[in-house]
Amino acid sequence: MLQACNLDGEPIAAYQAESGESYYCPACHAELILKSGAHKITHFAHRNNPECAAHSEGETSEHLTGKLQLAQLLKVQGKTVIVEYYIEVLKQRPDLFVRHQQQNFVLEFQCAPLSVEKMKQRSEGYRRLGIAFLWILGERHRLQLGITQQIAQFIRWLPNLGFYLVYYSVKRKKLELYYHLEQADYLPVASLSFTTANFQELITFMKKPLRLVPQKLTSRQRSQQILKFQRDCFYSQGKIRELQQDWYQEGLVLQQLEFFFMQQSYSAPLYGVKQLYWKSKYLLAVYREKGKLAKLHQLGIRLQQQSSFSLPLVKLEHVWEEQLVDFNGILKKYHWFFRV
Ligand SMILES: [Zn+2]
Repeated sequence: MLQACNLDGEPIAAYQAESGESYYCPACHAELILKSGAHKITHFAHRNNPECAAHSEGETSEHLTGKLQLAQLLKVQGKTVIVEYYIEVLKQRPDLFVRHQQQNFVLEFQCAPLSVEKMKQRSEGYRRLGIAFLWILGERHRLQLGITQQIAQFIRWLPNLGFYLVYYSVKRKKLELYYHLEQADYLPVASLSFTTANFQELITFMKKPLRLVPQKLTSRQRSQQILKFQRDCFYSQGKIRELQQDWYQEGLVLQQLEFFFMQQSYSAPLYGVKQLYWKSKYLLAVYREKGKLAKLHQLGIRLQQQSSFSLPLVKLEHVWEEQLVDFNGILKKYHWFFRV
């Protein structure tokens, strides 16, 4: 923590604190330890109170430095910034509380892992008070090849940006927006990015009326995808084996249905497992119903729901709906398949 109170309850920043004095947590009022060293900026820490709303054990130097840098970015633009402002009614302490033109918003610079439950609860708190909030992610949450639940929970959506995430790099002192996030089975996550050291520039960019369309897979990406799918079918393990058995009962072979599963374009980044899993189960039901799609709408939504991450900041219902419409479009193209 960078802020504490002195004996008189006055706020004191860590860099102003003196060793030998007593400092207290603004949330739980426990006495804090002042820590300073060569590798970390001076900060306060709880002795031990994981229950406290302001508690963050083993706060990293990335988190401490990032908070100060972000506060600086906002201050140079004339915004009023309070670091670690404790909101008593919520028992929450956002990293930065910002006041600008009669509007309050908070920034959370998330460097440590955080459970979906906690993340939801904090976001809900801000929402209840009508405070806009932005989760800014640190290095630990960098997108690798795929998306994990730990990252997915911070994804938000805007009509002009699609699905997006915001990062802050302490090393480069830059804000990074990854937008138009998309995924496709067997391929790394796709995105576009915008980088700036200026907070206002980020906000302006996020309001730009961009027209984004799903990115088409190149022929090289498609052959990669098909190759990996065929290999999965060959090794026949886990979920794939289960799907193979489903189709076997109908006298069909899963790998021969690849034209249904291997998509032409990227799609919404919400699935925690391969999209072909829900598609195969849905397709099988359609096959058994001899192509009657109308009856199976609920199933199509439910199967997607089961394979999606939890994205507390996005309304997924209309996305599932859209994906189902797209997939039904493909099924209609191959209507002969259902009449055999
Ligand atoms: Zn405390």
